[in-house]
Amino acid sequence: MVYNFNPGPAVVPPVVLREAAENLVDFRGQGLSIVEMSHRGKAYEGVHQEAIDGCLRLYGLGAEFTVLLLQGGASLQFAMVPMNLLPADRSADYISTGQWSRKAIEEVEILGRRCRVAGSSEGENFTFIPSQDQLTLDPEAEYLHLTTNNTIYGTQYQTLPRSDGVPIVADMSSDLLSRPLPWGQIGLAYAGAQKNAGIAGLTVVIARRELLERGGAGTGVPTVMRYSTHVKTNSLYNTPPVFAVYLFSLVLRWIEAEGGLEGMARRNAHKASLMYQAIDQSGGFYQGHARPDSRSAMNLTFKLVNRALEGLFCAQAEAAGLIGLKGYRSVGGVRASLYNAMDEEGCRVLAQFMGDFASRHG
Ligand SMILES: *Cc1c(COP(=O)(O)O)cnc(C)c1O
Repeated sequence: MVYNFNPGPAVVPPVVLREAAENLVDFRGQGLSIVEMSHRGKAYEGVHQEAIDGCLRLYGLGAEFTVLLLQGGASLQFAMVPMNLLPADRSADYISTGQWSRKAIEEVEILGRRCRVAGSSEGENFTFIPSQDQLTLDPEAEYLHLTTNNTIYGTQYQTLPRSDGVPIVADMSSDLLSRPLPWGQIGLAYAGAQKNAGIAGLTVVIARRELLERGGAGTGVPTVMRYSTHVKTNSLYNTPPVFAVYLFSLVLRWIEAEGGLEGMARRNAHKASLMYQAIDQSGGFYQGHARPDSRSAMNLTFKLVNRALEGLFCAQAEAAGLIGLKGYRSVGGVRASLYNAMDEEGCRVLAQFMGDFASRHG
């Protein structure tokens, strides 16, 4: 048995994996696997709709929102967002809080569309989330793009900025379904499922119908990359990633059974407080990357004051069954991903290991 702190693909609730394994060979007594049946048949369509409805229900969203089940990862959304939502004569605002935000901005530039950086923490190595008064928002912007949780740097918006009527477009790849959200200002949110919502292959888009129908940028967008195509076909334009959608539906059921998003938020806050205590009470042996007011409940990032010990830290952790702790390749240090499916026990074991390691080497 291991405790899996991988950033993505990442830990999946064990009950979900067990149920999926049982149904992989014979789906709910149908005599064939979910991966062998038509995506236009009744059995799969039930799963597909359950995923869409479950996602809306968990977030408490009404008919003005829709859920699209797509492919291509969050990385394709970096391009699909401006292709569909940003007409050539308009501009969008982007807040730059890490490598993923930067990649989103790059795609706008590749497409030859206009965007402004409305706020950035790049000058301080992405250690914080810019506050409202550090943003220079364009009231005429078509949308405001931000990354709710910065997987690599371990920072997270505690509350969304005020956007004064400009719809927020949010990359929620690493904190989708981790907490309830006020959707009043959000126009569209997207996430690859492989961090907090299941397995790779599925990209979840939650959006206001009105925004998708505007479809502004429209011309020259290939059929499969138009949101309107997927709205019209209920995400069955082409073959969806059936197994990843099935896994997603099971993850949604698991969240519901565990107290919904309030339950997840409570559990995640508790886990995060255990882990940040391990840093704050180490007498400087461990140094958190994120500024305390911007700390992520999903990805804990830190360095050892003696950087030469980081390799040993990760090796001994792995030997103790604590895996996936090496920091992102361009950042170094240690990163522990604490997604919904990581339980409190895993966090306690890691916190204990950190304390023991510090007392051996401090
Ligand atoms: C992982 C990640 C991505 C990239 O997701 P893919 O599904 O691999 O394209 C984008 N944004 C954030 C915040 C991420 O954590």
